[in-house]
Amino acid sequence: MKHLVLLGAGHAHLHVLHDMATLALPATRVTLVAPATQFIYSAMVPGLVAGHYELHDCAIALAPLAAKSKTIFIDSAATAIDAAARTVTLADGQALHYDALSIDTGPVIDRDAIAGAREHALFVRPMEVFVRLWSRLLDLAQTRSLSVAVVGAGAGGVEIAMALQHRLGDRARVSLVTGGPPPLASHPPSAQMRVMRALKRRGITVLQDSCMEINATQLRLGSGARLACDAPIVAIGAGAPTWLRDS
Ligand SMILES: Cc1cc2nc3c(=O)[nH]c(=O)nc-3n(C[C@H](O)[C@H](O)[C@H](O)COP(=O)(O)OP(=O)(O)OC[C@H]3O[C@@H](n4cnc5c(N)ncnc54)[C@H](O)[C@@H]3O)c2cc1C
Repeated sequence: MKHLVLLGAGHAHLHVLHDMATLALPATRVTLVAPATQFIYSAMVPGLVAGHYELHDCAIALAPLAAKSKTIFIDSAATAIDAAARTVTLADGQALHYDALSIDTGPVIDRDAIAGAREHALFVRPMEVFVRLWSRLLDLAQTRSLSVAVVGAGAGGVEIAMALQHRLGDRARVSLVTGGPPPLASHPPSAQMRVMRALKRRGITVLQDSCMEINATQLRLGSGARLACDAPIVAIGAGAPTWLRDS
């Protein structure tokens, strides 16, 4: 019997699991590896933050999906792949042998790209962690007004900033630190202008500056300015994880 390992429960693998529930692969044992018990649908996360959705609306439980397709589910992360030996090393050191491997582990944010971010910031990825920490931030906002800064002004950062402002209203002052260019730098100028107007209409402070460092109470910007901040949220671009690059 062949062993197919599905690494990561990203969008593509969810469809594979769904289809395998009705169309089993002959003579194949399938294992799913993912370091979370549920998949959080990223496109709905800004709506969750804004209060349009509950967490259960945005989440797909992995164990029941795996059970339906007779897939073994291992709740762990891959840390290395040895393609020559056909093994995946998991976080607990276990080596998983495969005949065929499919990778859908998604991009990651470099947690050390901004000094102090690892210790003091919330990262929008992994989503499973972000949604947990977001509910704590929401609780905190019920007790006092907050200064929130979103670092990164691609589509994800802009959406999160608007969603935060929508949800927290006058409980928070929301800033968006763009890294230098206007928000949505990779989009056409007309889209950039419309988004800039929408951000201003909502009272979101747009800072076309880089975030150099984050500490417990403030952000240090490239211009030398300091931005008081209770909750920095990092939404800078994501890329391939180092474990995959080094495998
Ligand atoms: C706030 C926000 C909003 C977004 N909105 C949209 C949108 O509206 N439309 C759109 O097209 N895109 C949107 N995106 C981008 C979108 O999230 C990504 O393009 C998409 O998630 C990538 O899908 P994927 O299947 O490759 O990986 P993901 O959806 O990231 O799934 C990765 C899976 O792999 C698992 N995993 C991670 N590391 C490991 C490991 N080491 N070992 C095993 N498993 C691992 C994870 O737990 C997860 O199950 C948004 C992103 C953000 C941040």
